[in-house]
Amino acid sequence: MPDYDTARERFSWQEARAELAGLPGGGLNIAHEAVDRHAAGPGADVVALRFLGKRGEVREITYAELKRETDRFANVLQTLGVERGERVFALSGRVPELYVAALGTLKHGSVFSPLFSAFGPEPIEQRLRLGDARVLVTTPALYRRKVAQLRERLPGLAHVLLVGEEAEIADIPGVEDFRRLMGLADDSYEIVATAAEDMALLHFTSGTTGMPKGATHVHEAVVAHRATGRIVLDLHPEDVFWCTADPGWVTGTSYGIIAPLTLGVTAVVDEAEFDADRWYGILQDQGVTVWYTAPTALRMLMRIGAEVAHEYDLSALRFIASVGEPLNPEVVVWGEEAFGMAVHDNWWQTETGGIMIANYRAMEVRPGSMGRPLPGIEAAVARRDAEGGPALRGDGGLELTESPEEPGELVLRPGWPSMFRGYLGEEERYRRCFAGGWYLTGDLVRRDAEGYFWFVGRGDDVIKAAGHLIGPFEVESTLLEHAAVAEAAVIGMPDQVAGESVKAFVALKPGHEPDEELRRELLGFARRKLGPAVAPREIEFVAGVPRNRSGKIMRRLLKARELGLPEGDVSTLEGGS
Ligand code: ATP
Ligand code: MG
Repeated sequence: MPDYDTARERFSWQEARAELAGLPGGGLNIAHEAVDRHAAGPGADVVALRFLGKRGEVREITYAELKRETDRFANVLQTLGVERGERVFALSGRVPELYVAALGTLKHGSVFSPLFSAFGPEPIEQRLRLGDARVLVTTPALYRRKVAQLRERLPGLAHVLLVGEEAEIADIPGVEDFRRLMGLADDSYEIVATAAEDMALLHFTSGTTGMPKGATHVHEAVVAHRATGRIVLDLHPEDVFWCTADPGWVTGTSYGIIAPLTLGVTAVVDEAEFDADRWYGILQDQGVTVWYTAPTALRMLMRIGAEVAHEYDLSALRFIASVGEPLNPEVVVWGEEAFGMAVHDNWWQTETGGIMIANYRAMEVRPGSMGRPLPGIEAAVARRDAEGGPALRGDGGLELTESPEEPGELVLRPGWPSMFRGYLGEEERYRRCFAGGWYLTGDLVRRDAEGYFWFVGRGDDVIKAAGHLIGPFEVESTLLEHAAVAEAAVIGMPDQVAGESVKAFVALKPGHEPDEELRRELLGFARRKLGPAVAPREIEFVAGVPRNRSGKIMRRLLKARELGLPEGDVSTLEGGS
């Protein structure tokens, strides 16, 4: 991107679309753009995916090999009699077969839906049922522990393909051997002539605010994946890219698989979970140039200190981006100290399918801001009515905020390629996401005079105290600036006078005592920085704050527990299920 304003002026989705290859016989298919296009060109022998196994083993797959493997899987689905548009689920760790299954499914014209492997039987059943799963790819261990017991309740699940040892699989009734079927399948397949609007992916939301929703996406989404990979993540063919998200969440698919492959880069996949030394080691040893990660991980690295980062040779690294949760300014600044560069926050959600608001390489980073809308995306801030719904003008349009800094709901003009096309089985809920010609994101933001967006909070989490609208993130960010604070989560408590009052849950860094003195100090610290109207009235020390598996704080759970209300859906809770 030369500079933001020029890029915005010049950008058009038609041109972004024209950069794609398209299927030889017409039509559009994500896997063709991600794999076959490169396999047929000079990039064929470039490593597409480099898998780092839990025990240090490395497996590289070139674009040419990935074409053959994904062709095989498409043939497997064909042989099994799976129909176009039917759902193929995966429940697995980050192993090569997961990626092959994802892309092979898209080639076959069926719909891919990834599940996070740490889910328990109940969330798995819910999602398989809602998605009307026809095929499930998983492992013997996961199958035994979590799926076998569900089989008779899921009569539509015709095929379970297990990735593992032949002998072990042979002992399990009602399943098929993934590798055996792949061995029998031909390694050449003509991609089904999918149309741009054919359904390709089914992604469940993180369940932060309630029951997860199944958002559907179409092949056309690849236009946005590729464009954002280039514009926001600045990916070029020679890059080594590491997206740390699991494909069980939309980030791990849109940016862990599709975007980097469409741009012909080498994508690193780590099978293991977070570990500071391991992660720094990967950045160094793999020569990662572009790194896409999340605030929680960055905060954990920050906690052990920038000196640790300096022990590694991270000279290849040239761009760091973050998504999923608000990125507190302190982390952006710490990035400079640890890596010599700012962390670039960006914002999007399962429903948007790709990055919508971002800090770009060519633009000054304002720590704490999510940045500016993607070229091609029109974003605005809309007023809410007393019930929290969109405030409508007489002519049915949305009432947008007029002055900079006035908080309101972030709304986007529909029509970008990776926009979700529905919530599976919830037509009405989908319709309610649109009003006055805009898509309502459910997140509250402010926009400053230069057009940078600042996250205030999720619509459901925002606190109203004595006429003030308080975003939990602002309060949490301030608490995180205190040397003793490791994690903070903030909710509104009912208050007879003010409507709501702010309560903070604080987890301390090692070496700090959760005593009265520290509580008073933190209350005073927050008060000085935020003012009495916004600062927490109450602080409770906790061992940790509840997060879901994609790392987001589940404030609704804290609130339910505080008020003695039912906890609601906790299927995505970290350490739960
Ligand atoms: P559910 O919709 O089921 O409650 P969820 O909204 O957490 O779950 P996702 O689609 O995975 O599910 O997450 C998107 C949300 O994450 C956004 O709507 C926003 O609230 C939050 N988010 C993502 N990126 C950022 C960011 N950079 N800054 C602040 N919040 C972010
Ligand atoms: Mg959401």
